[in-house]
Amino acid sequence: MQQIDKVYIDGAFVTPHGEEWFDLHDPAKETVIGKVRLADAEDARRAIAAAKRAFPAFSRTSKEERIVLLERMHAAVQAREDELFDAIVEEYGAPISRARWMAKYPADVLAEVVKVLRTYEFTRRAGTADVVMQPLGVAGLITPWNSNGGFICGKLAAAIAAGCTAVIKPSEMSAIQTRIITEALHEAGLPAGVFNIVTGRGDTVGAEISAHPDVAKISFTGSTAVGKTILRTGAETLKRVTLELGGKSPMVILDDADFAEAVPLALQAGFMNSGQACIAGTRILVPQSRLAEFEEKMRVAVAGTQAGDPRDPATQIGPMVSRKQWERVQRYIGIGIGEGARLIAGGEGRPEGVERGWFVRPTVFSGVSNDMTIAREEIFGPVLSIIAYRDTEEAIAIANDTSYGLQAYVVSADAARARAVANRIDAGRVMINTLAHEPAAPFGGFKQSGIGREYGTFGLEAFMEPKSLLGVN
Ligand code: NAD
Repeated sequence: MQQIDKVYIDGAFVTPHGEEWFDLHDPAKETVIGKVRLADAEDARRAIAAAKRAFPAFSRTSKEERIVLLERMHAAVQAREDELFDAIVEEYGAPISRARWMAKYPADVLAEVVKVLRTYEFTRRAGTADVVMQPLGVAGLITPWNSNGGFICGKLAAAIAAGCTAVIKPSEMSAIQTRIITEALHEAGLPAGVFNIVTGRGDTVGAEISAHPDVAKISFTGSTAVGKTILRTGAETLKRVTLELGGKSPMVILDDADFAEAVPLALQAGFMNSGQACIAGTRILVPQSRLAEFEEKMRVAVAGTQAGDPRDPATQIGPMVSRKQWERVQRYIGIGIGEGARLIAGGEGRPEGVERGWFVRPTVFSGVSNDMTIAREEIFGPVLSIIAYRDTEEAIAIANDTSYGLQAYVVSADAARARAVANRIDAGRVMINTLAHEPAAPFGGFKQSGIGREYGTFGLEAFMEPKSLLGVN
């Protein structure tokens, strides 16, 4: 049983002013495995003040100095990989193959930012002017529970690389993972106040960060509803915002696709991170002429997909993170049935033989029309919808008929044809016959999937403001 009773402010682990205790769970067993004492608005204000004090000196550090710091952060986080792995399995319930990737990723994103920084020019020429990229100030970084360490380190890495100082508010449900990351980052020995980590509730700590006049920038990953609240709150002080929000990503399977490849790809894209992924390919668009064949292959493939104990190496889908999330997913499965969609795999309740834990049956609906609730709203669980289309034009129209635009997938035997379809899809990323991540490429959403981009040069520049110097030689 872990008791986490410290927050990290001004280079030190301190007892929070906040007095509320929050239970941490093992979602595979529904047991309480720890408690965290939450920060409150006063702690957020202290953290912002520390970051504000640290900013003038830190913003004037050189690129080389910041590279050294980022390399130390990378080494320190990498050294905690195994501990982080155990926490991810226990506190989040990620299956071990996924958890290993998730435990490596926080160090990887730090290394990627170093690569970007090495070649980045902070000054460029525009006509007769020098344009200097200047760090924005104190950055508020607000992150969700579905990839806790990765989001903390990814946002912090870009902020530090730019010369910003930071106040981080991770999800309260990931406090054990946050403790490990915080200890590692502390060991990296950054100047006091450069980063501060205050785990607390969104409507107190998150709201204070979003409203505070000394915070210049918010980088938020989470739901579209909260993203809109943050945008409204931040408008009062004209904060710069990066919002990485929800998705309802289309997986467009063209009529020439080889289903032996397309079906496993669709399942991996749909069930990744146990379905708790903003980029999950949850709307599978299949040509009407080959629908029966696709459904049959899906049925077989889903039957071979194991949902259960995350510690079993054969498991592909772990539990939902919380009871609330489990109930939400169950409700959507019920809505799908009620709307007249046809279950071809899964359904309500737990997988067969599983007695406890927030496990969901891997579920696939067919006969879904794009106006059904299950095709329009983000479910955030292993629940997929197959939507039939007549021709490629209709497939593109359905793919774009959504309020989201985070990611899309196109599968075809003909790369040029797939590329032509990808060109017409409104999404921040389109994956053509692949699920491979590219850390140098920008990531972010069109429409209500967000504002701005993370990763690579675009992600770095999101923490800076261009300043033109005229009259210089
Ligand atoms: P959430 O929006 O409920 O919470 C995200 C974070 O915001 C948490 O730290 C939460 O405490 C905080 N928060 C809540 N209310 C707040 C407020 N009023 N002001 C400031 N902060 C507040 O999301 P979640 O349930 O933790 O995560 C799931 C959601 O995140 C899904 O919708 C998913 O699509 C999205 N997500 C997006 C991406 C992406 O990169 N686009 C990645 C992962 C998850």
